[in-house]
Amino acid sequence: MSLSGGCQCGAVRFRVEGDPGRASICHCRMCQKAFAGPFGALVTVKVEDLTWTRGRPAVFQSSDAIARGFCAACGTPLTFEWSAEKIDLAVFAFDDPSAVEPGVQLAVEARPAWMEHLADMAVRPPMGPTGAVVSRQHPDHDT
Ligand SMILES: [Zn+2]
Ligand SMILES: [Zn+2]
Repeated sequence: MSLSGGCQCGAVRFRVEGDPGRASICHCRMCQKAFAGPFGALVTVKVEDLTWTRGRPAVFQSSDAIARGFCAACGTPLTFEWSAEKIDLAVFAFDDPSAVEPGVQLAVEARPAWMEHLADMAVRPPMGPTGAVVSRQHPDHDT
């Protein structure tokens, strides 16, 4: 099994060989801030299974124990670095995020109350083709 991914602009790309390990979503305040979203979705892989195929993440040392990697060009969060042997990758940076399914929630005490009712939230119908908008997002495959 081989999974690829990268940042929104494509300056940083990676590939993981073998089966990824445990995936989780973390609601802690630091993940909320680092992802600027309701949670961080991360999967643990062996450092030896990870290859940076284009560029490298910049890192912010978010605590004495943890560094968080991101694309310096576009800001996409990419890593949670906590060990010499293992590293966490952002699930939604993978080209096929559905290939990595989180199985556990962490730090639920920081989860906003509305997240418990997400499935019940009103859904706006799809907007259809967006006409003149041209995406500059890197495609979900290696280039
Ligand atoms: Zn980028
Ligand atoms: Zn967290």
